[in-house]
Order: sequence, then C-alpha cells, then structure tokens
Amino acid sequence: MTRRSTGAGEGSAGDDGALFPSPVEVRRSARRRRTVSAYREGERTIVLIPARMSRAEERRWVSVMLERLARQDARLRPSDDDLAARAVDLARKHLDGRAKPASVRWVTNQGSRWGSCTPADRTIRLSTRLQGMPSWVVDYVLVHELAHLLVPGHGPDFWELVDRFPRTERARGYLEGVSATAELGIRDDADDEPDEPDEPDEPDEPDESDGAAPDDTDEPDDTGEPD
Ligand SMILES: [Zn+2]
Repeated sequence: MTRRSTGAGEGSAGDDGALFPSPVEVRRSARRRRTVSAYREGERTIVLIPARMSRAEERRWVSVMLERLARQDARLRPSDDDLAARAVDLARKHLDGRAKPASVRWVTNQGSRWGSCTPADRTIRLSTRLQGMPSWVVDYVLVHELAHLLVPGHGPDFWELVDRFPRTERARGYLEGVSATAELGIRDDADDEPDEPDEPDEPDEPDESDGAAPDDTDEPDDTGEPD
C-alpha cells in the first residue's frame, strides 16, 4: 500500500478541492480490486483505491467520493433551518400538526439531555451530540420534544403521542446504548422517569442505511497500520 497526501485544493482533489477544506489522503491498496471507498478520519479524508488505478481514474474517483461525503455530511448535520423544517414535517405526520414550535435549533450546552423544550415560548433545542446519528434517532428526539408542546410530563398521554413515531422504541434503545457506552448518563430529557421499564439493549443496528457508517462500497480493509 502506498499513501499520498494531496492536501486540499491541489493534486488529486483537482479544482473542486477548495470546496473540501480537509486534507485528502489517497491510499492505494493491492488487496483492493475494484472498490473505492472514502471516510473521515479526524480532520482528514481518506480515499481508498485499488493499487492499479491510473492517476486520471484516481482524480475522478477522489472527486466523486468527496462529493458523496459532502452530501452525507449535510444529511447528518442538518442546519437549524433543516431541523425546523423536519420538526414541522414530523408534527404533521405524527402529531396531527398540532405541535407548532416557534424555534428549533442545535445547542451545545444541553448538559445531560438529548433535547429540551420550553412550552411557554414553544422553543425546542437539540444537543449537537445527536449530530452524526441516524436521522431516525434525531427525528425521535424531535418528536419527543414536539410532544412536550402538547403534554408536559412523561405520562401515558405523552407516550401515546410519541409512540406514533414508528421508531420510538428503537431510537430510545439506540440512545440508551450510546449513553451507556459513553457513560454519559444522558436521558431523553431532564425529567426523571422512575416508572419507565428497562428497555432491552439493541447492540446491532444492521440496517442503518442512513447511519454514520462511512459512505462506502466496501469496508476499509487497511486503515491505520504502518506500511
Ligand atoms: Zn421528555
């Protein structure tokens, strides 16, 4: 395997490189026959290509993979506007359009909460820790906080609303798993929920097609180890 760092906006990244500020490292692998894959590694973007690929093909594929990753980034890190639009959409689909938030935005200071809601001014805040998680997990937290615009506590009325979102149980399992793994102790939100039964762990999420996995046609097969 050979590695070549091209830096942004030069070499393999071509003219489009300026759009992608992170340095790009192309790794050629003899074991890799046809597949090309790319993923983020800290500040860098790694593109894995077959060793026999020509320079022209390399340039083309780096460009293709960078565009694909950029689209994925946008999908996984929706803006505040995206978030507000999704909230409206979810409220219409699952809450009869009755929950009408005045603002929905990302915040970094959520403490031990994934999301929070202030019914008095109808504002909803989601923790930036959710960014990069599957969209249905973010959607669940949105539905949860939207439901609080209608029902303040976590009683049966509340869960009747939230359970209209089809992936509520799965998303709660996902977040509990994340929280337990990281030992963050983060709950749905600040309220204690003493009556909640324990929910089974869901260690495997086999069909997270919209998840945080590298946008890839093949697992990276040779990352990290020295040449
Ligand atoms: Zn809640």
